[in-house]
Amino acid sequence: VYLKAIEAHGFKSFADKVDIRFDAGVTAVVGPNGSGKSNITDAIRWVLGEQSARSIRGVKMEDVIFNGTTDRKPMNHAYVRLSLDNTARTLQMDADVVHITRKLYRNGDSEYFINNDRSRLKEINELFLDSGLGRNAFNIISQGEVDEVLNAKPDQRRGLIEEAAGVMKYKLRKKESERRLEDTAGNLDRVHDIIHELE
Ligand code: ATP
Repeated sequence: VYLKAIEAHGFKSFADKVDIRFDAGVTAVVGPNGSGKSNITDAIRWVLGEQSARSIRGVKMEDVIFNGTTDRKPMNHAYVRLSLDNTARTLQMDADVVHITRKLYRNGDSEYFINNDRSRLKEINELFLDSGLGRNAFNIISQGEVDEVLNAKPDQRRGLIEEAAGVMKYKLRKKESERRLEDTAGNLDRVHDIIHELE
């Protein structure tokens, strides 16, 4: 999977619709302080389902909606759409390009789409869980996080590497299987009790 484009409208400082395209190779975004460079990575985290306003440098989620400037009115909604190249079929979808869209309205209504289908956040999480990508997969390293990696304790550092390597999905599945095993063991106990009573 590689990120082909980001479209944003009404997200943070992007009052005008922006369409950022990434070609193969390395893309550098340059601009003065406060011009909105970090807002681009915030947009990526957000569309992938970020639920914590603080992680994208806000206080409440509505803070992602363009709030107006001296000469522009605030907007009513924020919109971000990612276009991902899926020719390698890393995402479990039979499509060469996968679009992920998130919209948020000031009244708190929120919508996600996978391609043109209205989706739930859970479906977006599942799509990325299988790919080793996603908002928690540590593909976005922001300012300060480099220090964090260098200063982390060995077990924390191991956690970061595991996240990046996509080990997370196996850990989650193991947990889920353990839970089912426990449930089954509980049911077996109950069956044994009943048999015992009948004997
Ligand atoms: P730096 O180099 O300092 O990190 P940057 O280029 O990464 O700067 P950002 O932090 O991405 O800049 O952008 C911050 C800008 O976005 C600020 O000018 C801020 O006013 C603006 N901004 C953030 N949220 C909103 C919003 N909801 N409405 C309008 N503008 C916003």
